[in-house]
Amino acid sequence: MQKTYGPATARRLVAAAMMLAALPAAAQRAAVSSYPTPTEFPKADAAAVARYLDEARRIAGEDRFPDFVHRCIISPRYSVRVRGIQHDGLIEPTQLFDQLYSVGQNAVSSFALVTSAGIVLFDALNSPEEAEQIIVPNLQRLGLDPANIKYIVVTHGHGDHYGGARYLQQTYGARVLSSAIDWDLMSGERSRGPFAGLEPPQRDIVIEDGQTLVVGDTTLRFYITPGHTPGTLSTIFPVTDQGQPHLVGFHGGTGGGREADALRAGIKSYARWRDLTQEAGVDVLIANHPLHDRGIENNELLRSRLPGQPNPYVVGEDSYQRYMQVMESCSRVHLARFGESE
Ligand SMILES: [Zn+2]
Repeated sequence: MQKTYGPATARRLVAAAMMLAALPAAAQRAAVSSYPTPTEFPKADAAAVARYLDEARRIAGEDRFPDFVHRCIISPRYSVRVRGIQHDGLIEPTQLFDQLYSVGQNAVSSFALVTSAGIVLFDALNSPEEAEQIIVPNLQRLGLDPANIKYIVVTHGHGDHYGGARYLQQTYGARVLSSAIDWDLMSGERSRGPFAGLEPPQRDIVIEDGQTLVVGDTTLRFYITPGHTPGTLSTIFPVTDQGQPHLVGFHGGTGGGREADALRAGIKSYARWRDLTQEAGVDVLIANHPLHDRGIENNELLRSRLPGQPNPYVVGEDSYQRYMQVMESCSRVHLARFGESE
């Protein structure tokens, strides 16, 4: 049976055919054989993996479940997916607390802590360009003057955290802080590895474990928490949220460890960090990648915050402790994947 169409229907059919033609043909899709596969761990101790996964999942409960799946499963097994989520991209600069601001990008964070004696900037993103074209305008949009950056804390010696530090050091005279071990790491990375060719900041202030830095009205306490790098720097400092006091625990290397020794070091130092932050009463979680502290989601919530609504970065003391316990347990899971133990 022959169908006949009116002119309007014919136009719609032609338009639909053109849309179909514009879609990528099946042949243009990469071959399935080239798709990334989950990372395999042929030496894994399956029983130990199962036991520590169970432990981590129980500790996580509901509130830390996303952190559990990210650190224990997605990051070690599906790294391409993590790279996809953690792409370079612009995000809105956002005020998080009365004194603390998010001025980084989608892949990696930068925070500005405003004190009575100037700004303490945590991390400087990937490159001089990102410092100039992301951090500086973000500070300005928030009403902050980049010329007031007094200190830059490099949380660890990987290029995605120190990449813009040299630019800010040279442009604004900011002093740069890192642990001695990660200062060495930064100068070594200049010549090799994924950040080769990237100029680190000029070696400046060396921070020791347990050191306190008083900047105007604000006291920062630093601890060296090996694991992600040998000299990862973590910080405890006070903030207020609409006048209410809180304490931030900023672990400088929640990216986990990649090899057995780093994982073992991480297990020890997460346990110590838990003690330190518990004793201090830390109730605010921030991390140096938005993927690790739900930065994108939290910032959006804060910018649409209604009176009386909670600040999503204030997770409470118990949840903070369990987050760090999950990081520790996932390190054990990963060690067991290598067929190793503590
Ligand atoms: Zn790193």
